[in-house]
Amino acid sequence: MKLFLTIIPLIFLGIVGLQESYAEDMAVVNSSITQQELKTMVENWMNNPDENDTNQRLEIMKAYYAFKETGQKLSHDREGLVLMNQITKMVSFDMPREELDELRSQVRVELGLETPSETKILYIDSKLVDCVGVGPQKCMNVRESMDFSWKNFYDSIKGFDYVEGKSYKISVKVTDVENPPADSSSKKYELVEILDTKSYSKHIPYNNICAPGYVSLGEICVLNDRCGPGIYPGKVCVMDGVKQPYLRPYQQGNAGISANDVICTEDRQLLFKSDATPVCVKPSSMDRLEKIGWHVDIPPIACTLEYAPVCGVNEKTYGNMCALTADHVAMKNKGECKAIMHDTFGLFENTLQYASIPPIVSEEKGYVVTEIANGVFWLVGSGYQTMFLTTGEGVVVIDAPKPIGEKYLEAINEVTDEPITHMIYSHHHQDHTGAAGMIFSEDITYIAHKDAADLLVSDNDPNRPIPNMVLEGDFNTLEIGDKTIELHNIGDFHSKGNWLILLPQYEIAMLVDLFRPAESPYRAFGVTPDIDLYLETHDVLQTFDFTVLVSGHTELLATKKHVGTNQMFTQSIMDNAQIGLDSDVDSLEICVNTSISQWEGKLGNLDAFMVDHCNAMIEYLQSK
Ligand SMILES: [Zn+2]
Repeated sequence: MKLFLTIIPLIFLGIVGLQESYAEDMAVVNSSITQQELKTMVENWMNNPDENDTNQRLEIMKAYYAFKETGQKLSHDREGLVLMNQITKMVSFDMPREELDELRSQVRVELGLETPSETKILYIDSKLVDCVGVGPQKCMNVRESMDFSWKNFYDSIKGFDYVEGKSYKISVKVTDVENPPADSSSKKYELVEILDTKSYSKHIPYNNICAPGYVSLGEICVLNDRCGPGIYPGKVCVMDGVKQPYLRPYQQGNAGISANDVICTEDRQLLFKSDATPVCVKPSSMDRLEKIGWHVDIPPIACTLEYAPVCGVNEKTYGNMCALTADHVAMKNKGECKAIMHDTFGLFENTLQYASIPPIVSEEKGYVVTEIANGVFWLVGSGYQTMFLTTGEGVVVIDAPKPIGEKYLEAINEVTDEPITHMIYSHHHQDHTGAAGMIFSEDITYIAHKDAADLLVSDNDPNRPIPNMVLEGDFNTLEIGDKTIELHNIGDFHSKGNWLILLPQYEIAMLVDLFRPAESPYRAFGVTPDIDLYLETHDVLQTFDFTVLVSGHTELLATKKHVGTNQMFTQSIMDNAQIGLDSDVDSLEICVNTSISQWEGKLGNLDAFMVDHCNAMIEYLQSK
């Protein structure tokens, strides 16, 4: 039904749009191309393609954009549909999106609809530097090519939120500003797309050597303030008179750095062989190597799923040797990794396996409870997951998922004799918390964010007790027994007063209903009230220190990789919805089909919500 509803208003808008632009700008429309001429161009190309037909296809695209930019629409009959398909699927096939965007904006400039602008690639360093503009300030270090040296950047880039600690490759639209005020820049920068980003954090040393740009700090290597990646030009970073040698890609793998995160020196570019081996090559060799089948993006490696665990030097258990090899990490020992990850973090090493292999839920019990760090218990059952903590002074439970119900108590009794003293609401929703009133005593401390507490009061549900400890603001810390619990409100991406619950001692986090590890998110992006905020929450979340995250659903623990994947997924639906809207025909169908073909096999549960996701996204984009 939704399908028809989307098409009809579009047809209607199409007619209105056409009439309006005739009225507004006769000259442009008169000089513009007709559908018949477009059709002839396409037929010409199909029947008589040049040997290298790029120019031919560019001409068609240019004409097509001129057609659209002058307010014309392809007819809503068979001929129009066929032509649209030929143009959007065949003519523009393999043309990079950025080039098409640039072409379109060129056409707009020629038609007088836009002031001249150019699209540039900028590389941005991971560190801010001191600089002096109107007064002393912090500047980004920017350059236009890997071959140039860094320059202080005094302007701002609209739509770009720089996060220190990450380096970026972005494309921007640069427009000349006419008559800029004094002290102001003569150029305006606008983000087109983030093409690549890397975050630099820490890794373990290999033979006591850290990766380039890192310095050793006890047992780990951390980003060197004065010597970070990108700041030094050669193969060696000299700091305090000590040379920091460059690690070869395989050595970085041995140091526990995943293939994707391998850092090349300034004059080299990262490529992957077809078995995903990372290699740093000269930019001039790239074309040749890509032709023989090397990849710019890491190629997917198909591994069988049999469980024959091996432990990597990155202290991560892999399901089998193939999975370890695909990540390009050296083996530490056969079998699962054991013991505690670091002395400081009490997270058990074998916990990480649950990020890829679910624990076995006993059919008889209907749940499984696993200690993932000292006194931190992860509970999985009935499609839900949550955690509870023993503190030496009582049990702190988080949520009380309704489908798990009384089994929550069985799970707690299975592992501890401590009494339950506190319950924390991750958010107010009934499915995650609606068993509380049935299974916990009234006398314990019920804790919620002020905004969630208000909603609980107005819902007045006897099974969701009114919080007797209400916390306000973005950040609160609880010290209960031997546990520190941080409560962060990182934006109401899902419901008002939802909390990121962080256990800084163990680098464990819990955030409910943002995403589902290895699956597509719940309908309409977890019924978020604001998709841009939803997308941004992923960036905010990535800035917190956690190794695993309890996401509220599925039988897997989440890692930052899952967060990144969900963000990419959401962004791609946004892109596909926009392509659908731009093409004017059946935006929903285009969005759904393209998204499924892009994500099939990469995320589970795609079919369940794709129509919902696309519908929500199209509505959202239209309302902006
Ligand atoms: Zn919820």
